[in-house]
Amino acid sequence: MVDHTQASNTISLESYGIKNAKVHYQLTPKQLHDITIAKGQGVEASSGALAVNTGEFTGRSPKDRFIVKDSITEDKVWWGNINIPFESDKFQKLYDKVVAYLSNKEVFVRDSYACADEKYKLNIRVINEQPWMNMFAYNMFLRPTEDELKNFTPEWTIVNAPGFMADPEVDGTRQHNFAILDFTRKIALIGGTGYTGEIKKGIFSALNFILPVFKNTLPMHCSANVGEDGDTAIFFGLSGTGKTTLSADPARKLIGDDEHGWTNENTVFNFEGGCYAKVINLSEENEPDIFNAIKPGAILENVILNDKGEVQFDDTSITQNTRVSYPIYHINNIQVPSIGKNPKNIFFLTADAFGVLPPISRLTPGQAAYHFISGYTAKVAGTEAGIDEPLPSFSACFGAPFMPLHPTKYAEMLSAKMKEAGVNVWLINTGWTGGPYGIGSRIKLKYTRAMISAALKGDLDEVTDETYRTHSVFGLKQPRTCPGVPDEVLSSRATWNDDEGYYKAAYKLSESFRENFKKFEEFANDEILAGAPNVR
Ligand code: ATP
Ligand code: MN
Repeated sequence: MVDHTQASNTISLESYGIKNAKVHYQLTPKQLHDITIAKGQGVEASSGALAVNTGEFTGRSPKDRFIVKDSITEDKVWWGNINIPFESDKFQKLYDKVVAYLSNKEVFVRDSYACADEKYKLNIRVINEQPWMNMFAYNMFLRPTEDELKNFTPEWTIVNAPGFMADPEVDGTRQHNFAILDFTRKIALIGGTGYTGEIKKGIFSALNFILPVFKNTLPMHCSANVGEDGDTAIFFGLSGTGKTTLSADPARKLIGDDEHGWTNENTVFNFEGGCYAKVINLSEENEPDIFNAIKPGAILENVILNDKGEVQFDDTSITQNTRVSYPIYHINNIQVPSIGKNPKNIFFLTADAFGVLPPISRLTPGQAAYHFISGYTAKVAGTEAGIDEPLPSFSACFGAPFMPLHPTKYAEMLSAKMKEAGVNVWLINTGWTGGPYGIGSRIKLKYTRAMISAALKGDLDEVTDETYRTHSVFGLKQPRTCPGVPDEVLSSRATWNDDEGYYKAAYKLSESFRENFKKFEEFANDEILAGAPNVR
């Protein structure tokens, strides 16, 4: 085990343009925890974890994420409302304002890195205005050893000033908050927002450009774990579909919960050094690994504590997106280092609020490519005003907001790798069963876990007409039986007790898929197009 308790020596930030700052370099999580509380920016929960509020923003702000358009990015980035261009000289001006803002202040600096595989290592220097955000960087990025720190040369720098407010008129931002990536200067500039997710997803977005363009490696928005005989499984899915929840499986070693690379040397490696789990309705019974990771060193965000300091997991009065970050070693069963072999099973997770998609089904290579490019999940009514029925949501590659290249670039790489590795691809609906949102209910976690275990154990490998039926609208192969799951749960249609209503919903969802896919049709071959659902 690395000793992370080294004394804080210090560094100068003059070369960044940050003058006369009081620099706290490489403080321990304990020191940062204590400073946060001393400054009144957080409190200690009964579990010993630090609890903070992220302020105005309790989630990322995709509309305020920019990429500097320059000679590196100009012809490669898929520009549009996901990858919004920002002028290089505007960036320089804004950067100068941010570093002037940080000058004469107390700042927290951490050297860390991303990518658990030596060959892909990206050294990162994180400069934070707030101590708890620097502790977040400790939790989420990989932690260099003392030896590595002696010769540390940062490649990318994150300059994070949540208290700095941009002036859109002058600075060229949309509003006061911004997260801007500059691939020439190798800087992620974040201001006006205290949501820590911007820090981790900033580097993720940078890697989603760097790895495919320069390193021939596929970056993926997925979690990963590995079984006793070394078989890797990966789980793609949009926010809230279950990547973190389902990858924490006591029977398997966790590789990572959110961001991975798949190399040409038949390995999968984690970009990060920690997890960032949702804690809404978290219970020790359903999710013991995550529950027990909430201890000293963890940072809870936007939760409500009672007067004993206990987290009220069902209280969403600040946000539905309550979170906890912790270093990966807070989970008991982990793979060290966070690298696995080629995956044997790939799961696409979707939280279908229409209750249409089967809870587990097997995909052909064409269907796999189709569903990957589609990136379907559903948005359900939450705190957002005006949404009172679920909406289909499509996000290419199950992570469009973080993908600087055209989605088909990633899809082509994934298809080639899946074929070469001969993986099984499964679609898992972690959403509604027994009817749509409002009538049915979310499928029980224990059933989803049982289906995934069965797939991983090979219990569902025999594919015949006796063992599988084909969904008449989506063409997906659904197992008729699965250990640990009642047969009727395996057919979403059967759970409805209303065939007419079910098929109506199924065709409606199919139409949404087809409508969304139109923009990708010109890039897709016949095999992929054949993966589309049927129309009535
Ligand atoms: P993000 O990308 O935002 O980190 P994620 O894919 O990691 O999202 P999770 O944090 O795993 O998503 O969230 C899944 C949520 O859904 C958890 O709160 C979990 O308790 C809940 N849940 C309820 N039923 C299921 C189920 N059957 N399978 C998976 N998750 C479920
Ligand atoms: Mn997650």
